[in-house]
Amino acid sequence: MMKTKVSELTFNSRALFEHQAILFNLKQDQIDEYLTGNIQEIADFNIEFGFRICENPECREIFNEGFLTEDSDTFCSTACAEKIIYNIEEDDYGTYIFYTEWEPGS
Ligand SMILES: [Zn+2]
Repeated sequence: MMKTKVSELTFNSRALFEHQAILFNLKQDQIDEYLTGNIQEIADFNIEFGFRICENPECREIFNEGFLTEDSDTFCSTACAEKIIYNIEEDDYGTYIFYTEWEPGS
């Protein structure tokens, strides 16, 4: 099932968002609003806070270490990447899809 709510995400995803939000001085009541809102709303912070959201609609987890494709798609894991992009092969790792860490501002 497709996830739309932040409350449907794992503890780790919510904790990562909250951690970054505190770092960037969001107020706790604002943070609580985002944590009970839609995933799409927190996506707007991805560059500033340095996280990405998995593009597998059934996953949507938030991470700052994961996989980036040449087409700028982002996935939390190889399993999610291979579920959405059917034709990824062994050789594509390191040439088309890269393990990546994101930092605030990137
Ligand atoms: Zn995923």
